[in-house]
Amino acid sequence: MTDRPDTAEEFGADTSRAPAGAVAPADGDVIDVFDVIVIGAGPPGENLAERTQAAGLRTALVEGDLVGGECSYWACMPSKALLRPAAALAAARAVPGAREAAGGELAAAAVLASRNAFASNWRDEGQVSWLESVDVELVRGQGRLAGPRKVVVTASDGTERRLTARHAVALCTGSRPALPPLPGMDEARPWTSHEATSSQRVPERLAVVGGGVVGVEMAAAWQALGARVTLLVRGDTLLPHWEPFAGELVAEGLARAGVELRTGASVAALRRPDPDGPAVVELSGGNTVIADEVLFATGRRARTDELGLETVGLTPGDWLAADDSLRVQGVPGDWLYCAGDVNHRAMLTHQGKYQARIAASAIVARARGAGVDDGPWGAQAATADHQAVPQVVFTDPEAASVGLTLASAEKAGLRVRAVDYDLGSVAGAALFAEGYRGRARMVVDEDRQVVVGASFVGPGAGELLHAATIAVVGEVPLARLWHAVPAYPTISEVWLRLLEAYRG
Ligand SMILES: Cc1cc2nc3c(=O)[nH]c(=O)nc-3n(C[C@H](O)[C@H](O)[C@H](O)COP(=O)(O)OP(=O)(O)OC[C@H]3O[C@@H](n4cnc5c(N)ncnc54)[C@H](O)[C@@H]3O)c2cc1C
Repeated sequence: MTDRPDTAEEFGADTSRAPAGAVAPADGDVIDVFDVIVIGAGPPGENLAERTQAAGLRTALVEGDLVGGECSYWACMPSKALLRPAAALAAARAVPGAREAAGGELAAAAVLASRNAFASNWRDEGQVSWLESVDVELVRGQGRLAGPRKVVVTASDGTERRLTARHAVALCTGSRPALPPLPGMDEARPWTSHEATSSQRVPERLAVVGGGVVGVEMAAAWQALGARVTLLVRGDTLLPHWEPFAGELVAEGLARAGVELRTGASVAALRRPDPDGPAVVELSGGNTVIADEVLFATGRRARTDELGLETVGLTPGDWLAADDSLRVQGVPGDWLYCAGDVNHRAMLTHQGKYQARIAASAIVARARGAGVDDGPWGAQAATADHQAVPQVVFTDPEAASVGLTLASAEKAGLRVRAVDYDLGSVAGAALFAEGYRGRARMVVDEDRQVVVGASFVGPGAGELLHAATIAVVGEVPLARLWHAVPAYPTISEVWLRLLEAYRG
């Protein structure tokens, strides 16, 4: 590694030739010098730390809560563990012969127990021993910047540890739920995604506010577990950033499951007159909804408010802007990086981990004094964040999408044509589920003759997505895609039908 000025001396220590390790400054405090310091041990932070350490850069990973982040304990894993049993039961009931054997009700207690196991019972020993196995040093406590390359970590007992990075600091602190500042929020104690993914009991009545991905998934999960769910949506559609048919088919599925969907429902205030009694959701216009719990799934905000951003010229609370090598913009030098939700590029675990791989690769390249474009895979620029983000909504039916929707492609000024196909008409779909309902759309860039977006809605549609991601990222010409023959009788035959529909 090339030598860099060692900023530990700014804490009062002479560390100009210090190897990574502990340094004692004049005042006797110990400063730990690492090559790389990562703040936040969600999936992106863990991945970034593992990669820089594996490349020979001594790396510290700072975590104030559980190693594994939201995804492991209060987001992806527990939410999908809540959703999967209902999907499996619905799949069995859609197949004659299996249907007769699947007549019972979902066993809510077993589902919650399985969810607890998927969330590792909210303990992180497994993640910690993995960190040990890859030699990353875990520093427990809240980290904050204290100037360029400097990090102060405050442990739960209030003690502080000062760290300095020789090469890079990476901020991977994620996001937290954004609650609207409505009257009565403190008194009514609404659920956020934390309670919605970790509750140990099924409320009798649940009101869900918000028709985005978290809102529709949690509405589906808790309705299946036995709650009576009312889904309150301000606009007139679910999943507003998706192809319109995604919101329509998901709304149909939720209604079939018994969810009461109210569109044009804007929450004005919340009350819980008796602390042990139900909450009252007051809607603009005067209507009310009574529910035992109220989940606000109304977006996320950056977790940067107590991160010392002001010490490097940034504004606390803001999302971090990053270039394609995940270097934080607005900070001189090339030492500050960010990956995951905190940069607001694509708030999904797989995209955060992708960014972490890129950031680690860029940090290692720069530490070696190399340019950032010369990795064997051209791996130091996060291009897929812009053009090809895959996402699945695990409702019944599932919705899956990658790349641009027709509307977003047109807004981007592309000359595009969309072709649609009824997924239920594909032989594999009819075998998958009786009366299969679903739809697929392929958005083609007419000038380049490549797929720039694809969406699939239907049972099991999530597993169709990676082929689309490859087509979009690989910019596979339609003339070549024509030779990618889907196996018969799979639902993937929809690709052939979409290409036939496009050729006319
Ligand atoms: C209900 C729900 C379901 C979801 N389902 C999916 C899904 O199915 N698939 C998917 O891809 N994405 C899903 N997501 C999104 C996914 O959870 C996030 O994109 C992912 O967790 C982002 O990882 P992250 O590391 O950036 O942030 P986080 O997972 O939030 O991790 C950040 C970590 O940093 C720590 N931290 C923060 N500040 C400090 C500090 N100052 N000092 C020390 N530590 C700090 C936190 O304690 C936390 O552990 C879901 C989100 C929600 C809310």
